[in-house]
Amino acid sequence: MGFFSKIANGLKKTRDSFTGAISNVLSGFTKVDEELFESLEEALVMSDIGVHTAMDICGQLRERVKKESVTDPALIRGMLRDIISEKLDCDCRLHLDTKPSVILVIGVNGVGKTTTIGKLASRLKSDGKKVILGAADTFRAAATEQLGIWAERCGVPMISGAEGADPASVVYDTVAAAKSRGDDVIICDTAGRLHNKKNLMDELAKISRIIGRELPDASKETLLVLDATTGQNAVNQAREFGSVSDISGIVLTKLDGTARGGVVVTINSELSMPVKFVGVGEQIDDLQPFDAKQFAAGLFDEE
Ligand code: GDP
Ligand code: MG
Repeated sequence: MGFFSKIANGLKKTRDSFTGAISNVLSGFTKVDEELFESLEEALVMSDIGVHTAMDICGQLRERVKKESVTDPALIRGMLRDIISEKLDCDCRLHLDTKPSVILVIGVNGVGKTTTIGKLASRLKSDGKKVILGAADTFRAAATEQLGIWAERCGVPMISGAEGADPASVVYDTVAAAKSRGDDVIICDTAGRLHNKKNLMDELAKISRIIGRELPDASKETLLVLDATTGQNAVNQAREFGSVSDISGIVLTKLDGTARGGVVVTINSELSMPVKFVGVGEQIDDLQPFDAKQFAAGLFDEE
């Protein structure tokens, strides 16, 4: 399956509800007036695009409509797509410039961290990178086992500790192994106990300290994994995690199972956290680098 069709398939539910809502609004108007903008704003908010972002998008739309003297509602759709596409445009690449580089994967339980690490490891490996995994979610033994299955599937090594071991010590061991093996990328899993913010903060700070001390000049990505099916709750999680760590990018998972994909727009524009990858299924190749243009096109059912 091609790159675009993967995104397009993953966005099917979102697209159906999104384009449905937009078409509903546009077909109800014969001219472009203030009432149209208000209905459109409402439809955007219903599509999990946050209130601020929806207002902002409609503000830009008003300006363009005025500037280009648009009177036909049928032309609004394309303008809306362009505005959303521009809003989503960001530096979506991973910056892994040193050998080794580090990717720390954080997020609450069940959002898809471990699965994302498996997919990411496979992707980086096929790019010719030597990858090593660190099983720093030591909270449950099952978490290490699950990461181990992905490590095996991808044919990459994994460093782990006993259940309940200090996550930072697993990170330390993984960094040491990576240095001696000459690995390119270290990917570390973590436990996601957001309900205990103090613990989480301490744990992430300790892990960051270890990485900073052992690899002071390394490129480091801290990827926050969010489950798209949780809609605005995902936005709240991004705010919470953003307050305890420096997040360099978002991985938005489970887009395939939800109509709430509009949340990408909110995360990108309201939180200034670039979405770098989207998860569109449970298989190893179901992780796609985020591309603003393609995403916007996928949202509006255009190729
Ligand atoms: P973690 O607790 O954050 O490590 O989450 P896991 O990686 O264990 O994933 C939790 C569940 O979400 C698993 O059943 C995964 O197969 C599923 N999952 C992860 N990413 C995706 C995705 O992009 N699409 C779908 N449909 N399921 C996903
Ligand atoms: Mg996990």
